[in-house]
Amino acid sequence: MRHLISLLRRERKQQKLKPPKKRGKRLIRVGTTIFFAVLGLIAFLALGFQAEKAKAMEIADSIMRSNWRSTSFPVENFQRYSSAYGYRLNPDGSPGWGFHRGIDIAAPAGSYIRSWSTGEVVEIANDRLCGTKLVIKSGEWQHIYCHLKGRAATSPQGRYLNDPESGLQIWEGQQVNAGIRIGRVGTTGRTTGPHLHWGLKYDGTYIDPGIVLQAMYQQQPRGYRW
Ligand SMILES: [Zn+2]
Repeated sequence: MRHLISLLRRERKQQKLKPPKKRGKRLIRVGTTIFFAVLGLIAFLALGFQAEKAKAMEIADSIMRSNWRSTSFPVENFQRYSSAYGYRLNPDGSPGWGFHRGIDIAAPAGSYIRSWSTGEVVEIANDRLCGTKLVIKSGEWQHIYCHLKGRAATSPQGRYLNDPESGLQIWEGQQVNAGIRIGRVGTTGRTTGPHLHWGLKYDGTYIDPGIVLQAMYQQQPRGYRW
């Protein structure tokens, strides 16, 4: 009898203990799931970041190994680099950060801009931020020029850069050689002073033009001046 009572007690005890045990197990299971989910997310992000970094490194490496001897520095009257590629505080003083997809090269207003590489003019536009804009395509590369003097205009012959004082005739669809004058430095669009905003895209991805300029500079013969 005593044995039976003790058995019953033990069973009741076990029944009492069971629910908290279950809750504990469930908590552990949920905790483990969350832990692995977070770990997976971190690994996923890290891998994505690594892949992005690897792609950027690969592009930078191929840039350094490419032949840039037939390219041209894009401004004639270089003054200084006024802004680098990458994250920066908004230059107009508004709060916040933005990604600057190019470099800014300060030059006197009205001085000439040269085509970086031989290619085709694929876009002449009036953009709210970029201002009077020119895009040239050279194979997989696209070079973008912003804040030009003059305006993009349309005639029955097509779209062209209307800057009569420049003495230039630049049309959409036109083939241009590296180093030829394609426009002039201005202050159209969002600018704080005359400069060329110069952007580069390779296969649709923005590239830091500073890397390309560095590679170009390293390949120039000694004593050469742009
Ligand atoms: Zn810029």
